[in-house]
Amino acid sequence: MSARIRIAVVGMGKIAKDQHLPAIATVPDFDLVATVSRSGESIDGKPHFHDIEALAASGMEIDAVALCTPPQVRRRIAQFAIDQGWHVFLEKPPGATLSEVEALRKAADARGISLFASWHSRFADGVEPARAWLADRTIRSATITWREDVRVWHPGQDWIWEPGGFGVFDPGINALSIATRILPNPMFVEQADLDVPANRAAPIAARVGFRDTAGTAIAMDLDFRQEGPQSWDIVVETDAGTLTLAKGGGELSIDGGAAPTAAVDLHGEYPGLYRRFAEIVHAGVSDVDVSPLRLVADIFLRGRTTIVEPFVE
Ligand code: NAP
Repeated sequence: MSARIRIAVVGMGKIAKDQHLPAIATVPDFDLVATVSRSGESIDGKPHFHDIEALAASGMEIDAVALCTPPQVRRRIAQFAIDQGWHVFLEKPPGATLSEVEALRKAADARGISLFASWHSRFADGVEPARAWLADRTIRSATITWREDVRVWHPGQDWIWEPGGFGVFDPGINALSIATRILPNPMFVEQADLDVPANRAAPIAARVGFRDTAGTAIAMDLDFRQEGPQSWDIVVETDAGTLTLAKGGGELSIDGGAAPTAAVDLHGEYPGLYRRFAEIVHAGVSDVDVSPLRLVADIFLRGRTTIVEPFVE
């Protein structure tokens, strides 16, 4: 491998353009050498390929790929990349099912490459300080409120409403990626109510009751129909006060006041993700934590579905 990790980005949609390309440009471990897009064009004059097979056939020297496609098609592309010996950065969720992610992890180990199941919300500024603050507190309860306007944040993304797109759990899994990082005890699903529009296959809203292994109740409220102010908040009641992690993990406060400062300077979620990816590539290991995906799978196993009015974008 060259000194810098030669990376290609696959699937030039919203997240690739908004976050991956700028992050790759700011993290010196990486060199963007190509893009792969069925519909897009070359970026900054870099080589551009229609699909990952064409990228491989070109003979270009590639060390890694970042897969920014919808989850339903990610496994096949990831397996192809692993077969080429390329390190693989998976956007969240790492797959549409747990079994396929497990199969990818085994394939990556067998091929000796690094597989990264990325959870961008874990790299928000408030998350590590929240984890540190909660580590030696007694937690009495927690509430997760993730209410956003799907028309604003996911315009035209029909895949989100299809099986394997997770509906409101596409953003909801970000909340769970934070909860599973900051809450000290494992949590499990006790009950879930899922509202699925009559013309769609995935939930538009959900209410979930979790409990952790210490018996603490954790409530989650998700809604894709939120207009006006948006909420991406986690509130944890403890024996030493109330911790609030607002703005998707970006803003931490204790009892409404000053928060502990971050132990590390994360410089934003996606640069943080790419620094972590470089770290695991250089260390020759993988980083695949499926715990947020497992909770979503359990919600779908345990939940009661109610059909609600059709959703028309
Ligand atoms: P998007 O805007 O719909 O982009 C996905 C891209 O994947 C498409 O533009 C397309 O790119 C490619 N693609 C779509 N269907 C494909 C298929 N059948 N085969 C191969 N490629 C296909 O979606 P997105 O918002 O970027 O989300 C992509 C992933 O990033 C999701 O897992 C999502 O959860 C995650 N994510 C999104 C956000 C966000 O705010 N949007 C934030 C964090 C993470 P080409 O036309 O270039 O081939």
